[in-house]
Amino acid sequence: MARKDALLRLRSRLIARRDALRKKLSLDKTGDGRGSGDLGDVACEGARNELNSQLATIETRELRFVERALQMLLDGTYGTCEQCGGSIPVSRLQALPYTVLCVKCQSDLEAIGDDEQAEIDWDMACDYEVRFSDQDVLPDDFHRGV
Ligand SMILES: [Zn+2]
Repeated sequence: MARKDALLRLRSRLIARRDALRKKLSLDKTGDGRGSGDLGDVACEGARNELNSQLATIETRELRFVERALQMLLDGTYGTCEQCGGSIPVSRLQALPYTVLCVKCQSDLEAIGDDEQAEIDWDMACDYEVRFSDQDVLPDDFHRGV
């Protein structure tokens, strides 16, 4: 399949996705305010609203990506890596229709963005748990080599 045909297919997929997201997001906005008076239900409702707003945030972000991809299709820049200007393989676009980075640049970005988790030294942590309650049995070799 020619790249152009593949892009045209992706375009209709993106448009369908955009319309679905727009519809969903506009429904979410008008869909609340139908709770009952029960306290338990209110708490439950609160948690559900929290979840809904998190989902809406994710969907809003996805909608932005989709709209950007459609704009790039119009501009003729779709399928071109924003970072290095290289061509993004169609197979990658089919998997991630609104990606703007090639595989290499994406993994470079992820490598930089990785939070370096402070490593927990469990041996150290365990040392604090060691109790020397009885001075008499304090081993001589405890001081050895210090
Ligand atoms: Zn790139």
